Amino acid sequence: KDQQQADLLKLYADSAKMYQHILVNTELGEPALAYLRERGLDDDTIATFGIGYAPKNQLLLDFFKEHGTDYQLLRQSGLFIENQAGELRDRFVDRVLFPIKDASGRVIAFSGRILTKSPDEPKYLNSPETKLFNKRNVLFNFDLARGAIRQRKAVVLFEGFMDVIAAYRAGLPNGVASMGTSLTNEQIYMLERVTDQLYICYDSDLPGQKATDRALKLLGDNSRLKLGVIQMPDGMDPDEYLRHAGQEKFVQVFEDGKQTPTAFEMTYLRHDLNLQNTQDQLTYLSAVLNQLVKLSSSVEQDLYLNQLVQEFGLDKDDLKQQLRSMIGQRS
Ligand code: ATP
Ligand code: MN
Ligand code: MN
Ligand code: MN
Repeated sequence: KDQQQADLLKLYADSAKMYQHILVNTELGEPALAYLRERGLDDDTIATFGIGYAPKNQLLLDFFKEHGTDYQLLRQSGLFIENQAGELRDRFVDRVLFPIKDASGRVIAFSGRILTKSPDEPKYLNSPETKLFNKRNVLFNFDLARGAIRQRKAVVLFEGFMDVIAAYRAGLPNGVASMGTSLTNEQIYMLERVTDQLYICYDSDLPGQKATDRALKLLGDNSRLKLGVIQMPDGMDPDEYLRHAGQEKFVQVFEDGKQTPTAFEMTYLRHDLNLQNTQDQLTYLSAVLNQLVKLSSSVEQDLYLNQLVQEFGLDKDDLKQQLRSMIGQRS
């Protein structure tokens, strides 16, 4: 059993090396290297994250066959697709590959990004789950970020790998991402052991905001982490914003743009409402008060009440009275 694990780990390490070699040193890798450069990645970043390229023609299978690697091991690795006749072929073809590592930095899977948009193929393709790779237990970049998370006393949770990498390039190395799924309790536990402060920095488009809202609820119910939200301007994701606005402005968003979960919700709750009409105004106010009633700090409550007073020309004492009656209903 242990030998099998060691063999798999060796297989992934060799594969990662192979893919990276193809990207960095060969003609086959040139289009992928150009793609990554276009996206702003330099040699240092490519090396740090161990990024590679799986070329158009299958490569890995022939390489391991030549080295006499055990067929069963190849089957179990998830790096190959098996047809009905039991024949294998490479799973990753013409994709930029991001090695997925466990908390100790050992490669246990890959995620491959397609180079050119295709309607028939997913943008990102992950390794299937294996004995070593359970995506519930994995956070992209956790191995590299852990020290920085401790040092900066906070972790930043991103939506995509390229966002984590963008933050790293801009001097923010304490970022992680889940594997294209919503956060799991296992991942929350990993983070709780190294920090007590988490910032959600998902894409600022509507899907990203929805995911932020879900993550806030999940984390609020299942963790003791202090929470904050960071949103890039204009519906962009962090990687897009870094390229659009440059490092200085990007970093500034992390300095100035930290929102409390309630401040985020007060904006988010508007997304499907038209606050020009009184019906939606009432819906909005009731939803916001439902958020405010959960706050333990009356100072914080006051802050948002003042905003409501300002925006809707309401009487503050009335709002407070309303909150008190809601607290009564809750208990
Ligand atoms: P890029 O910047 O490379 O275009 P992205 O990270 O901005 O990618 P999003 O569409 O915002 O892509 O998706 C966020 C994350 O969700 C991705 O980084 C990836 O982990 C995951 N993801 C996206 N599309 C798929 C897919 N088709 N299958 C599996 N995971 C996916
Ligand atoms: Mn997105
Ligand atoms: Mn995105
Ligand atoms: Mn992106």
